[in-house]
Amino acid sequence: MEFDAVLIAPRRAQMVAQGLWHDRTINDDLDACVAACPDKTALTALRVEEGGTIRFTYREMTRMADRIAVGLARLGVGRNDVVACQLPNWWQFTLTYLACSRIGAVINPLMHIFRERELSFMLKHGEAKVLIVPQAFRGFDFEQMVAGLRGDLPALEHVVVVGGSGGNSFDALLSGPAWEDSADAQAILARSRPGPDDVTQLIYTSGTTGEPKGVMHTANTTMANIIPYAQRLRLGADDVVLMASPMAHQTGFMYGLMMPIMLKASVVLQDIWEPGRALELIRSERVSFTMASTPFLTDLTRAVAERRLEVPTLRTFLCAGAPIPGPLVEQARAVLGTKIVSAWGMSENGAVTLIELDDEDERAFNTDGHPLPGVEIKVADDAGQAMPAGEPGRLLVRACSNFGGYLRRPHLNGTDADDWFDTGDLARVDAEGYIRITGRSKDVIIRGGENIPVVEIESLLYRHPAIAMAAIVAYPDERLGERACAVVVARPGHSVDLPSIVDFLKREKVAVQYIPERLIVRDTMPSTPSGKIQKFKLRELLRTTTA
Ligand code: ADP
Repeated sequence: MEFDAVLIAPRRAQMVAQGLWHDRTINDDLDACVAACPDKTALTALRVEEGGTIRFTYREMTRMADRIAVGLARLGVGRNDVVACQLPNWWQFTLTYLACSRIGAVINPLMHIFRERELSFMLKHGEAKVLIVPQAFRGFDFEQMVAGLRGDLPALEHVVVVGGSGGNSFDALLSGPAWEDSADAQAILARSRPGPDDVTQLIYTSGTTGEPKGVMHTANTTMANIIPYAQRLRLGADDVVLMASPMAHQTGFMYGLMMPIMLKASVVLQDIWEPGRALELIRSERVSFTMASTPFLTDLTRAVAERRLEVPTLRTFLCAGAPIPGPLVEQARAVLGTKIVSAWGMSENGAVTLIELDDEDERAFNTDGHPLPGVEIKVADDAGQAMPAGEPGRLLVRACSNFGGYLRRPHLNGTDADDWFDTGDLARVDAEGYIRITGRSKDVIIRGGENIPVVEIESLLYRHPAIAMAAIVAYPDERLGERACAVVVARPGHSVDLPSIVDFLKREKVAVQYIPERLIVRDTMPSTPSGKIQKFKLRELLRTTTA
């Protein structure tokens, strides 16, 4: 497979000269771990439904990575071949990535929620040669689903199944036989280690606005983010990271899979989000850092409050990936006693704005941080001119961690000749350079020519005593073009109606034009496993529901 990562070569000389690209790969870091701390626990993985826990030291992890790498090579996988991995946060996910990195193969992480429609598009577009799936997860039979797809996927040569004992199992084909001891293993492993500018990860955007796009990253682009990220958060070898956000998303992948190895630290993987289990893990494994979106933070806060158990080891909770309502962060800070760091980022460049650990808590309540070293931001109007401080506009970034491009879609790369990448998000920046995301260009609501500040109104709704979750979406209107509808989930034992919301927002002194004119109350909010509310589903719902 040819990777057209056209955004890499033109930036290389400057990035290296500025010390922003480190010309290392995860292989170098894994080797360094084995040399420095072979017997340290590298990875602990909890299977919530089955109840089992498995641990790997760095020595065991490296041996297993080599074994799986040779196993993949025996299946015909080599340099630039795509290995699609549709696994929950299981140890096989981490080890598959490390194995791919040993032989120059490219991992394509796929969310376990993907079904035929998403999979057939991504596997075909990415020309995956091997697909790794669970035999079953949460009652769903993946093997059967894939069997129905194979006829349409000429590039797919092997489907490897985690679980079971068949001839196509992960154990039989990859992790079981001691391949690494065979005579040709060292030659295989030495032959095709990737360089720091080779594509190592192909990760698809969710495709809420059209076809999913295949984001290509190299070791240099990912590590250029992880190194300054860990420095700002003062993370090091003594840290224990909890990752319950899916590793098939960039959050889990960069900070739950790659970062712990780069720091010689330890990671604890949780495959199904259950706040009570997370709380137990934080306490038993002495977790010091985690990263997830706001719903995880809210759930954990509730679990701590209900069980009256403390989390004294948890120094920092980094919250990003979706709008971060200030009131929820404030409450979490008070209950957990943990420093809450707000951040913003995306698959294309990692988490690139974060507050500082020494910042006042208000920064986390009201901003999404300021750029890491090696990242510049610009809030611009439609013509690309910078907006004055405080004025919302399109958020552009120029980041050392910017991706290599979208696979076979270079015309969509969204990066201009000066390397400014248009993120598709809207933001304002304050005088100190801290940003606040105010919406996504595609989620914008324009009511009679007036842009509704969606995220701010949502944040206010979270202060309403009867509201547990809130989202504001547009619905078409003949006269004004669009109007705003509030979709909310009420707190248990509370009810909520439109007049009470209107009164509430008026008391908060919100401009009348910004106040939602419809209300839908739901039991749950459609959201991704990483905790993002799926506004496109809400818009669909609005189209099919009359007021
Ligand atoms: P997608 O959701 O488009 O597949 P990602 O998973 O990469 O892509 O998510 C990136 C998007 O998540 C950002 O473009 C932004 O819209 C949203 N996001 C991330 N962090 C924040 C934040 N702190 N506040 C608001 N939105 C955020």
